[in-house]
Amino acid sequence: MQDSASLHLTPERRMLQEAAREFAMQEVLPLANRLDPARADMPRSLIDQMARLGYFGITIPESEGGMGLGCFEYCLVAEELSRAWMSVGSIIARGNSFMGSQLFTPEQRARVMPRVASGEYLGALALSEPATGSDLASVACRARRDGTGWRITGAKYWCTFADGADFIFLLARTAPPADPRRKHVGISAFLVDKPRGSFPPGLSGSPIPKIGYFGWKTWELAFDDLFVPGEALIGQEGEAFAAFSRGLESYRAHTAARSIGLARGALEDALRYAQERVQFDQPIAQFQAIRFKLAQMATDIEAARQLNYHVCSQIDSGLRCDAEAAMSKLFASEMSERVCSDAMQILGGAGYTTHYAVERYWRDARLTKIFEGTSEIQLRIISDRLLGRVPG
Ligand SMILES: Cc1cc2nc3c(=O)[nH]c(=O)nc-3n(C[C@H](O)[C@H](O)[C@H](O)COP(=O)(O)OP(=O)(O)OC[C@H]3O[C@@H](n4cnc5c(N)ncnc54)[C@H](O)[C@@H]3O)c2cc1C
Repeated sequence: MQDSASLHLTPERRMLQEAAREFAMQEVLPLANRLDPARADMPRSLIDQMARLGYFGITIPESEGGMGLGCFEYCLVAEELSRAWMSVGSIIARGNSFMGSQLFTPEQRARVMPRVASGEYLGALALSEPATGSDLASVACRARRDGTGWRITGAKYWCTFADGADFIFLLARTAPPADPRRKHVGISAFLVDKPRGSFPPGLSGSPIPKIGYFGWKTWELAFDDLFVPGEALIGQEGEAFAAFSRGLESYRAHTAARSIGLARGALEDALRYAQERVQFDQPIAQFQAIRFKLAQMATDIEAARQLNYHVCSQIDSGLRCDAEAAMSKLFASEMSERVCSDAMQILGGAGYTTHYAVERYWRDARLTKIFEGTSEIQLRIISDRLLGRVPG
């Protein structure tokens, strides 16, 4: 399909986009088509290839070993990778999203960022808990001081890549909330080092059976008095929540880009199929019902992409855009599931088989409405901007 004409797409950005597209279509897509049906993990060699391309450090400054680019470039690459396999478009967040957060002190950045940017030190994110999802300020996992370090106790849920990661980025409560209306105070962030491929004593886990987002596992974790050294505390004690929340705009932009990549994959596959499949003596692409569906899908994708470009530009200009980022995430993820479902319809029965990738796009698109803040939470953020906060 023809690329977006956008003033935002400078020659440098187009080059990055084209390189990511070539990598995605030649290296990632064949692996996705083979490994997703087997529910197998993506190979380390693929992660290493992405590391060599610099994809874990797109937004990390050059002085810290990264590419020194912005959220725009990060999302361009994420769209391309997700067009092939969303899990691969997601793994680059290990470097770009939470490393861009304002939590880290300069000393911590100097220690951690070069290793993250190079791909040798990759993380998993442990925010959610069995009883804490959308209301993240309710985290109950605790960390208490013990000599020079900390002891962590509690349960975490939905921690993707916990096994393969070199560290787990964790939110834990270090002080009980003094005021129930200010639950976010007293939450601290930790980087918990762990061996790649296993869990240390004091940490155990089991994979959660999920219906998509294959290529890596998503874990339920139990921290049982796990000791971490003092330097594992990131940023200021008890103040992680606000600093972390300020980085959520780029998380949402990234999820919008992933949604757009999935929808594009579905559209491109449906376009090809509609021109090859013959019924009533003509390619089904000749039927107006199919042509108009394709046209609507392309229009929806382009609208989502342009909104995402706008949000990325705002983020890169240093402007706050929490409501716009929520709109972009909401619009793109809702669009993506709809477009992937329409693509399945165009493929008819073939779309409901694992012979075609459209069913993978659809399963993964379904998730984009749930994680990184559900659609309802995005609507809440947007309506807060419109109406001001209302109780309840
Ligand atoms: C495959 C997968 C991978 C994930 N990976 C990670 C990860 O790596 N790290 C991590 O920390 N988390 C991860 N998550 C967790 C994800 O971010 C949460 O599932 C998500 O934030 C929603 O939380 P919840 O599932 O507890 O739903 P809940 O918060 O329990 O919500 C249930 C329903 O209630 C609605 N709802 C909740 N509050 C409101 C409200 N105020 N107004 C209106 N409606 C509301 C929600 O929109 C939803 O429809 C992952 C989840 C999945 C499914």
